[in-house]
Amino acid sequence: MYEFLGVICNLPNHATVPFFYADRRVGGLGTCRLTDDADIWTIARAAQLLTCRDPTVRNICREQLHDTIRRGFRNEHPGVLLRYAEVGSNLWTLARQVAKRLGVRIDVSGDENLRIVADDVSVSPVKAIRGLRKVARQRYTRDLISDKSHQGVVATGLSLEDKSKDMARLVSCRTPLSFRDWRYLHRARLDILPLRGHSWFCSQEQDTSCRRCGKENETGFHVLNHCEEGLQLATKRHNTIQDLLESLLVKQGHDVTINNAIPGKRLRPDVEFQLSGSRVMVDVVVCYDQPGSMENAYQRKYDKYSSHGRILPLVVGSLGSWYPRNDEIRSILGINGRSWGAFRFKARLAAIQGSMDMVCAHFHHGAPNPEAEDNPPLPVVTPYPLD
Ligand SMILES: [Zn+2]
Repeated sequence: MYEFLGVICNLPNHATVPFFYADRRVGGLGTCRLTDDADIWTIARAAQLLTCRDPTVRNICREQLHDTIRRGFRNEHPGVLLRYAEVGSNLWTLARQVAKRLGVRIDVSGDENLRIVADDVSVSPVKAIRGLRKVARQRYTRDLISDKSHQGVVATGLSLEDKSKDMARLVSCRTPLSFRDWRYLHRARLDILPLRGHSWFCSQEQDTSCRRCGKENETGFHVLNHCEEGLQLATKRHNTIQDLLESLLVKQGHDVTINNAIPGKRLRPDVEFQLSGSRVMVDVVVCYDQPGSMENAYQRKYDKYSSHGRILPLVVGSLGSWYPRNDEIRSILGINGRSWGAFRFKARLAAIQGSMDMVCAHFHHGAPNPEAEDNPPLPVVTPYPLD
C-alpha cells in the first residue's frame, strides 16, 4: 500500500505517513488505511448484530456476548478483571480489542439505541463505517497539520478554508491538473521537492543557494514566492487570478478599471470600482501557504491602500490555500454563493497551475525545451515504517 501510493504520487520515502490518509481539504490523499478499515468493519458489524431488527439474530448475538462476558468473569467474581484471552477468540473479543485500539466506546446506556462514540463523533451502528472512517481521517489530518518535520506547514494554510470541497475536487477523476502538475504538487505541498536548501537533499557543506538566482536558500518558499528568476511566471500566475476576478466583477455589473494609478500616487491597485459613491480596490496577492505569510500579505495590502479608499485584499496561497477574509469581498459585494464558489475554485486552481509552471521552470532551468524532455525516472520507494 505504501509503496504503491508513494510511487503514484512521486514521493520519496521520507514523506510523512499521515499525508496518505489525511483529508483532501488539507492536501492529503484521503485514502483509507486497510488495517484501520478492517478494525472499523469489525466493530461496526458487531454493533449492527447486537441491534439487528431480526429478534432471533439479535438475541443469539446478545446471548453469545453475555456468555463471553460470563466466561471472562469466570462466573465467579463479577467486577474482577476480565480476561478475554482465556475465553478464546470470537467476534466479541475481537470487537473489544478493536475498540481499545481505535479509542472507540460503545455507549449502551440507551439499551436498544446503542451508540458508537469516538472523539467528537457519535453514530448509530448503521452509520458506524462512515462515522469511524471520518474519525480516522480527522486524526490523520491533525497528525499531518502538526507534523514535526514541517511537512504539514502547507496543510495548515489549506486548513484555513475547510468548508468547501475545492481541494477534494482537484483529486477527482476529472481533475483539471495535468500529469506534470501532479508530479510536483504533492511534493511541493509537503515541502520535499529536491531542492538544495533541504538538509536531506544537500549536506551543509554543499552550496544551498538557489540554482538560478544564487541569492537565498533554495526552498519551496523561495522557488514559489521569492526567486527573482521566477518573477515572470509569478506575474503570469497573479494576472490569471486578476483576470478571473475582473470577469467575475464585470458579470456582477461593476464598472471596473484595471491597474489604474491613484491620482497623485504611485499606487496601482489591481482592480478598482465605485460602490455607493466610494472607491473600492481589490488587490491580488499570491503568497506562501503558511497562515502567517497569508496574514502578513493581507496586512501589507491593507496598510498600502487603506488611506485611499476601501481595500479588499485577495490572498491566495501558491499551493491553493484560501485566506478566509477573502470572503469579505463576496459579502460586501453581495455575490451569490454559486458564482463566488466557481470563482474561488478557479482562482485556487490558477494559483496551483501557475506555481507548478514555476517549479517546472526551476527544475528545467537551462533546458532548451523543458516540455520535450523525458520524464525523469520515478524514485525507488522503500516501505514506510508502520507507525
Ligand atoms: Zn532563486
